[in-house]
Amino acid sequence: MANETVFTKIDQGIIPSVKIYNDDKCFVIMDINPVVKGHCLVISKEVRPTLTDAPEDLVQHMILVARKIDARLREVLKCDGTNIMINNGPASGQEVPHLHIHVIPRYENDGRKAGFAHDSYADGEMAELGRRLEIK
Ligand code: AMP
Repeated sequence: MANETVFTKIDQGIIPSVKIYNDDKCFVIMDINPVVKGHCLVISKEVRPTLTDAPEDLVQHMILVARKIDARLREVLKCDGTNIMINNGPASGQEVPHLHIHVIPRYENDGRKAGFAHDSYADGEMAELGRRLEIK
């Protein structure tokens, strides 16, 4: 099958998984290597490698499912918050080229960081970059 990924094999049941949600556009499994226990992945049924490749209605649907999972993690695990993130393309650290949203339960003082070291701007650099990035 074209565009086969580990996630299409999971969707077809060829690779086992713990699935906690399923509909016609996406499904949700437990991440096998959780950042924090309860870490879930909202995965598109259609193989779209990145967010950039996905149609708007699919993106809208998946973010709403991610919000449902966030609510479920808060309800069942009593977590205090979640990290909801997409690694978008190999340069960002994306390992599986099949659109998925990570939903990671977080607790006050759980010892995990948000994950990024911060950079800084030279004088005027941020404003100049902002001018280039502005969408009118
Ligand atoms: P990413 O780096 O954003 O592409 O994330 C891929 C995620 O898929 C990682 O967090 C992996 O732990 C997870 N993963 C890979 N294979 C499996 C699998 N068979 N079952 C569950 N999660 C998986």
